[in-house]
Amino acid sequence: MSDIMYSSTRDKEGVSVSAAAAIINGIAKDGGLFVPSYLPKIDLSFSELKNQDYKGLAGFLLGSLFVDFSEKEIDYCVSNAYNDKKFDEGTIGIKTFDNVSYLELFHGKTLAFKDMALSILPYLMTVAMKKNGLKEKILILAATSGDTGKAALEGFADMDNIDIMVYYPKDGVSNIQKLQMITQEGKNTKVIGINGNFDDAQGAVKQILSDSNIKRELKSRGYIFSSANSINIGRLVPQIVYYFYSYLRLLNDGRINNGESVNICVPTGNFGNILAAYYAGEMGLPINKLICASNENNVLTDFFNRGVYDKNREFFTTVSPSMDILVSSNLERLLYHMSGNDADYISDCMQSLKTKGSYTVNDKIRNSLGDFYADFANEIEVKREIKRVYDKYEYVIDPHTAVASCVYEKYRHKTLDNAHTIIASTASFYKFFRVVYESCFDNYDAKKDDFTLIDEIAKLTATSVPYAIKSLKNKKILHNLVLDRGEIVKNFFEYL
Ligand SMILES: *Cc1c(COP(=O)(O)O)cnc(C)c1O
Repeated sequence: MSDIMYSSTRDKEGVSVSAAAAIINGIAKDGGLFVPSYLPKIDLSFSELKNQDYKGLAGFLLGSLFVDFSEKEIDYCVSNAYNDKKFDEGTIGIKTFDNVSYLELFHGKTLAFKDMALSILPYLMTVAMKKNGLKEKILILAATSGDTGKAALEGFADMDNIDIMVYYPKDGVSNIQKLQMITQEGKNTKVIGINGNFDDAQGAVKQILSDSNIKRELKSRGYIFSSANSINIGRLVPQIVYYFYSYLRLLNDGRINNGESVNICVPTGNFGNILAAYYAGEMGLPINKLICASNENNVLTDFFNRGVYDKNREFFTTVSPSMDILVSSNLERLLYHMSGNDADYISDCMQSLKTKGSYTVNDKIRNSLGDFYADFANEIEVKREIKRVYDKYEYVIDPHTAVASCVYEKYRHKTLDNAHTIIASTASFYKFFRVVYESCFDNYDAKKDDFTLIDEIAKLTATSVPYAIKSLKNKKILHNLVLDRGEIVKNFFEYL
């Protein structure tokens, strides 16, 4: 087979670029997402792979997809991303109860699974810039509803030749999330609050990115834009690694047999994390069902069950805010693969989404969705699930993980399938301690301040407060700029 290249999901001509170019650009010119020309089957057996550490496995898997990167370049990226300065020992954690394993993806610096990809993206981008002889520097712009912004800031802080600017809705993120961002260190970081909601922040970023005057001025200052959000293929591919890694760990621990199929259940927002699991399956990981779990913003549940994607509906603000999404961008990649790489058809679907807010997929795609199972959990079910898991296992899960855990329970009752199931655990409960406290313990007092409650819940659950939370108490606030929506684009260069 020929070398793996990357092309846009919307490009009828199928023009392809190297992985390095795809990573630098983030999104394709036609608005589509970069996808690999094919997914290579891994050419080593699980018994050969099972003693690899996280870095070793990441190097092997990334190298098989980013074929224009040399082994040395991949090693450089992997060893800078997944070391003990950035992650707890082992990089990820696995907690198994009966035939369920919670795959803890939150052992990085910001306590959310986005660290898994955003700790390596800056290195991949730096190498890609060198490989392509890029003369400009890169400016990363991001709007955030909480987790992405902080993980991106932490990943890009103090990288050479890349600056990062993050906009967040001043009153639309939790106190802890806000503190995490406005105390961000690093000479190349800028954090700006917005008087408005997440859509205002995102709208402003989109407006800046598509403003040709700004682009021209930026170029004259020696910069180009890129993106760190989950449509960048440099974020998606590193997420494949932990699905293989957890399977191998379970194999090593005798929890599963070599070749045994597992279910993977993922709390889903933008469809990046679960798409990485699907990619892992295409590369040879034995998967029975991919369980797509949503909160009350259950567009994806309806999509998988009816073949209709329809964002024309009420938007709910939930206790799992990182999943409060009505347009799951990465679904476009799945549809592309399932349509048999039919860019024409995908363009039409996305055009329909843009103009009508909905699209219906053809039979070919509908008939390919059988690997997936989808359901959702409402707010009451999420809180009950946090308590159920705590009471049964003395194990505390965050509300995003609880969505997945609850949906898995529903799946098991309905199907009686008892295959071993990996549930992606996407955040430390300390990031969302209020809802956890309220769900598990009667003495929750909403009026108490954050750090008092954090100390209390640590005692109650006999867990220790992560350093990333503890240290916030004494950190200096370094970013206190807040703008009105109208000032953001107009005064863009003033704050650069
Ligand atoms: C981003 C996020 C998700 C959703 O992941 P996607 O890849 O966007 O589907 C789930 N949980 C947490 C805690 C997150 O930060």
